[in-house]
Amino acid sequence: MNFPCEKCGLCCRMIGGIPALQHLDNGNGVCVHLHDNLCTIYESRPMICNTSQMYNAFFKSIMTPEEFIDMNLQACRKIQELNRNNMR
Ligand code: SF4
Ligand code: SF4
Repeated sequence: MNFPCEKCGLCCRMIGGIPALQHLDNGNGVCVHLHDNLCTIYESRPMICNTSQMYNAFFKSIMTPEEFIDMNLQACRKIQELNRNNMR
């Protein structure tokens, strides 16, 4: 799956509410593996961070890859909007 990530890094800065990533929280909700908006463990990142693995494991039977990408892009836009509002 080729997810069109814009590399804004925001999803990796808001992991505070994600149980599967609590062990990677630096205390401020930012993942300890994020550097310069890039994941330093990209090839071995947790499953929840990997759209292809998540799709194949949990979503393949209920939606198309395009629908899954669209659903995730909507989440990206939502956190980007939240971030913009917080910056005001
Ligand atoms: S919020 Fe979306 S666009 Fe930004 S880094 Fe995460 S996956 Fe990529
Ligand atoms: S492991 Fe990588 S992709 Fe997952 S939250 Fe941390 S920096 Fe982001």
